[in-house]
Amino acid sequence: MIVVLTGGTGGAKFIDGLRQVIAPEEITLIVNTGDDLEWWGLYVSPDLDSITYVLAGLLSKERGWGVKGDTFYCLQAMGELGQPIWFHVGDRDLAVHLLRSKLLTQGKTLAEATNEIAGKLGVQARILPMSNSRVETRIGTPIGELSFQEYFVQRWYQDPVNSVRFAGIADAEPAPGVIEAIKSASAIVIAPSNPVTSIGPILGVPGILAALRKTRAPILGISPIIAAAAVSGPAGILMAANGLPVSIAGVAQAYQDFLKILVVDTRDAKAAKQLQRSGLVVHSTNTLMRTKDEKVELARTVLSLLGASAAHAAEPS
Ligand code: GDP
Repeated sequence: MIVVLTGGTGGAKFIDGLRQVIAPEEITLIVNTGDDLEWWGLYVSPDLDSITYVLAGLLSKERGWGVKGDTFYCLQAMGELGQPIWFHVGDRDLAVHLLRSKLLTQGKTLAEATNEIAGKLGVQARILPMSNSRVETRIGTPIGELSFQEYFVQRWYQDPVNSVRFAGIADAEPAPGVIEAIKSASAIVIAPSNPVTSIGPILGVPGILAALRKTRAPILGISPIIAAAAVSGPAGILMAANGLPVSIAGVAQAYQDFLKILVVDTRDAKAAKQLQRSGLVVHSTNTLMRTKDEKVELARTVLSLLGASAAHAAEPS
C-alpha cells in the first residue's frame, strides 16, 4: 500500500501519473482540508475534490481544478442575484458540494461523506481527509487575517504575508484510518504540494508527525520547488514567510523529521549534490508534469526509488 500526503494541484498531477502505474486499490491518499470553505452555504473541500476528480478521470486538466467540460450556469445566475462569484464553482462540481453538504447535515463525518462521493464517482483508491474536525488555514496580512481562499483566489496572493496558522488544529484528531495507513504503508510519498499550506496542516494534526517518524515505510518527497521558485502558486512566498529557504533545501528542511528520499528536478542537480551531503538521498530527474507521459514517468521513477529503498531496508544487516 502506497500512502500519499497531498494538496490539490501539484498533488493531483502526481496522482494522475500514479493511478496509471499501480492499481488504485493500492493507493491511500491523506488529503489537506485546511483550504476548505463555506461557499453559498455549502461545505466545499477543494483539495478533496481535486483528488477525487483526478482519480475518477474527471479533473479539468486545463484549469487544474473542477470537472472537465463543466458549465457555469449556476455561477452566472448567482452573480445575477448579487451573490459573490469570485470562487468559481461549475455546475457538476456544485452537485458534489450539494451532496457533501447534505451528508454532513445528516450527521455523516467528512471522511464518510468523502468515501460516499468517491464511491459514487467510481473511485477505487482510498481517499482520507486529514481530519474530520474543521481546521482552517489563516493567512496574516497587513489588511488582517484572510482565509486561504480569500488570500489565494479572491486576492490573487498579492498581499504580503506576515504569518500562517491553522485554526482549530490543536484540537483536531486524524480521521479514522489515517494513522493506521501511515503505520502499515509499504511506502509513503509527500506529493509535490505546497509544503506550508497543503502538507503543513496535515503534519500539524496531532499524532500524524509522530506516526511518520515511527513508521518503517520509506518516506519520499517530491519537490514543488524547481530552481528556487514554485512551479505555480504561492508556495515560495509562504515558505519564505515561514522562514524556509525557497529551494530544495527548504523543502528538505520542512520534512527533515521523517524524509528519507527527496526527488528534485534536473535543474537542481547541482544543489542536489550539496544537499546529499546532509545524509538525505536526493535524486534528480524531470519533475515538471506537463503531459501524461511526464506524469507516468515521474510516478515510475518514484516507485522504483521506493522499491529499491524498501529492498535495502529489508536486507539483513
Ligand atoms: P493546492 O492545494 O491547489 O495549492 O495544491 P498543491 O499544494 O498540491 O500544489 C501546489 C504546488 O504544486 C505548488 O507549490 C507548485 O509548485 C507545485 N506543482 C504544480 N505543478 C507541478 C509540477 O508539474 N511539478 C512539480 N514538481 N511541482 C508542481
